[in-house]
Amino acid sequence: MYMGHFGIALGARRWLRPLPLVWLLFASIAPDLYDALAGLMPALDTGGISHTLPGAVGAAISFALATALIYRNGTLALGVGLLALSHTATDYLTSRMPVWPDGPSTGLYLYATPWADFLLESAVITLGLLLYARSPDLRHPARAGLIGMGALMIALQGVWNFVIAGR
Ligand SMILES: [Zn+2]
Repeated sequence: MYMGHFGIALGARRWLRPLPLVWLLFASIAPDLYDALAGLMPALDTGGISHTLPGAVGAAISFALATALIYRNGTLALGVGLLALSHTATDYLTSRMPVWPDGPSTGLYLYATPWADFLLESAVITLGLLLYARSPDLRHPARAGLIGMGALMIALQGVWNFVIAGR
């Protein structure tokens, strides 16, 4: 999954709003962040464990523990852990990935059908933004801004599906 991860983070803010949005955005792409870090620091390179079940659980526990330590709130920690877990769960819809390091690969691999992936992720982005807009603390939701953000996210998703992944 590509922009859909951020859609999930924005939607999750409705329940996790005491936390900074950037923390939710990071949690939603935890395994990708780990891969990026491992690219910079070879000591972290664990041979593609990030998008396996052990990697997903590790990411969820890491983000939940960090949230519990910083914010001292078990419910928020659980929510952030689930958000981090959603990354790999939804990636299994769009990709084929090993279940454990060097294990068998599985996944729906919607990337192979760009329109199907585009529609799924556009729906996730739309739903996420609708939930975000309904957060009770957003007194004057800037609707034009949210529509603009949704349009940008869906446009980036389209570039991914039909330009980058299509090459
Ligand atoms: Zn990923």
